[in-house]
Amino acid sequence: RFYEGTVQDITERKQHEEKIRLLATVFDSVADGILIVSPELTVQVVNPAYRSITGVEVEDVVGKPLAILADGVHPPEFEAELWGAVRRSGRWQGEVTGVRRNGESFAAALAVTTVRAPGGALEHYVLTLADISQRKYQEHQIRYQASFDRLTDLPNRWLACERMEEAILHAQRFRTKIVVAYIDLDRFKQVNDTLGHHAGDELLKLAARRLRNCTRLSDTVSRLGGDEFLVIAPDAGDRAAGARLAEKILYSMGEPFDLFGQEVYCGASVGLAFYPDDGESTDQLLRNADLAMYHAKRHPEFRFVCYDDGMRDQADRKMGLENDLRRAVANQEFELHFQPKVEMATHRIIGAEALIRWRHPTRGLISPADFIPLAEDTGLIWEIGAWTLQTAAGKLAEWRSRGLSVGVMSVNLSPRQFQDGRLAGLVRTVIAASGVPPEYIELELTEGAMVGDIEKAATILHQLKAIGVKLSIDDFGTGYSSLAYLKRFPIDTLKIDRSFVRDIVTSNSDPAIVGTIVTLADSLGFATIAEGVETHEQAEVLKRQRCQHIQGFLVSRPLEENAFEAFVLDNGAVGA
Ligand code: C2E
Ligand code: CA
Ligand code: CA
Repeated sequence: RFYEGTVQDITERKQHEEKIRLLATVFDSVADGILIVSPELTVQVVNPAYRSITGVEVEDVVGKPLAILADGVHPPEFEAELWGAVRRSGRWQGEVTGVRRNGESFAAALAVTTVRAPGGALEHYVLTLADISQRKYQEHQIRYQASFDRLTDLPNRWLACERMEEAILHAQRFRTKIVVAYIDLDRFKQVNDTLGHHAGDELLKLAARRLRNCTRLSDTVSRLGGDEFLVIAPDAGDRAAGARLAEKILYSMGEPFDLFGQEVYCGASVGLAFYPDDGESTDQLLRNADLAMYHAKRHPEFRFVCYDDGMRDQADRKMGLENDLRRAVANQEFELHFQPKVEMATHRIIGAEALIRWRHPTRGLISPADFIPLAEDTGLIWEIGAWTLQTAAGKLAEWRSRGLSVGVMSVNLSPRQFQDGRLAGLVRTVIAASGVPPEYIELELTEGAMVGDIEKAATILHQLKAIGVKLSIDDFGTGYSSLAYLKRFPIDTLKIDRSFVRDIVTSNSDPAIVGTIVTLADSLGFATIAEGVETHEQAEVLKRQRCQHIQGFLVSRPLEENAFEAFVLDNGAVGA
């Protein structure tokens, strides 16, 4: 037995020595620092990697008490707990902060293992120490990139939501409010389009800096994307605090920005939502603040808008309307009304404008102002516009065949239709199918459809002109166009906007403006017509300014087709 035991002892010792030898080869070649430490925690050996990681020399550490951790970084009880765990379970591993000879600290992965002699007695500890500062840095970089916006260095949407979650937990516990401010820059797109991306980027950076400067350190200012920013103010006392925050933001955004020497006014729209009043979750708060911002954008007369539940209803209604609108296209719920245009001197009807109406099965007649924007947003405008053109041309053909003289039929085109590559093809097909001479169809376009790429707009207009239709600029005077560049477009008529006509009797300058438009239009070969003429006084002033053609309630409201026929017959325009 004794012998046997000895044999076993020898075997165990052999295995143990084998282990040490193995360790020794690893010891010299690995990249991880290795220290072998006595049970009393005196350093016995260190490997070359440990020396190169920390910069220490053998004589600095061997024979000395173990001291690998940076001072004052770990909690006081940290080392005691570490060794306690090693004694209990034989090992420990985790991240620590190591220290180099020059005093610099670094992130390290430390593993401690116990080595026991064959008899079970504690022989020594082996510590491996890996320098992970580089990895840590990379991890930090990755996390940074995933959480921060590169352009402005602000937290991105993801981090903003994280912060909002935290703020909500905090606010729940302490029963406080959170203000969420959704900010959208007003003229960012314009700056980007006219001054270039470089200027756009600079504007975003400057706006980010201003937002940070006008908020508290405890607030989170983030960039959600594009020109949208979010401020989360976690310890706002009440709604008044939110209003003050919004005022500060608006004030700072209202100041001019210096974009590479160019002074640019941008401005912003702000929507506010409060926790818990306007939403209990990050998602709800974000959506409702966004909705409030959207309202602020639509109503520039308000400085900022606080969310209220009515907005959600309105948004829902709009959603309902969207579904209805899709159905309306299929069910042919649209009809056209016609408003006559007349020549003042002769009282002759020179034409009619087709204006669309939506006969909703439950809501009654809906005005185009309420659904055309929605149709544009949803792309349904193409089908609706095609229906309008087709129906107007068909009606005109019918009236003409019955000997009713209604002159030129105008149809409105929205900018979206104008930019659609299919437009010229549609117009050509519709006119050919209806059989009306093309010069009896007029397309009304707003100046807005033509801004941006002037060359492209000119090309489209020439395509349309080649078909033979008449082209008219609607709402003239409200857009950006100058008569000079309109000269390059094959335009027939300028339709002077209602706003000039409305003030023409009372204002000092508007008659002169109308007069100038008419004179210049004449010299450039454009005809003119004034829209929205409601009173005799307005008509008189227009006549004096040599604007001969008018359209408006003074002559007639837009009429259903039968009423329009009757109007034409009453005005004795048969067979002309
Ligand atoms: P618009 O092209 O400027 O049309 C003139 C609008 O002024 C019409 O409103 C008309 O009813 C109204 N109006 C006419 N005379 C007077 C007047 O004396 N005083 C006042 N205050 N208003 C007058 P409506 O029919 O509600 O159309 C609104 C807008 O919707 C139109 O403005 C046009 O931009 C658009 N629209 C109408 N029909 C169509 C269509 O078929 N397609 C497209 N894309 N847009 C359309
Ligand atoms: Ca029009
Ligand atoms: Ca108009």
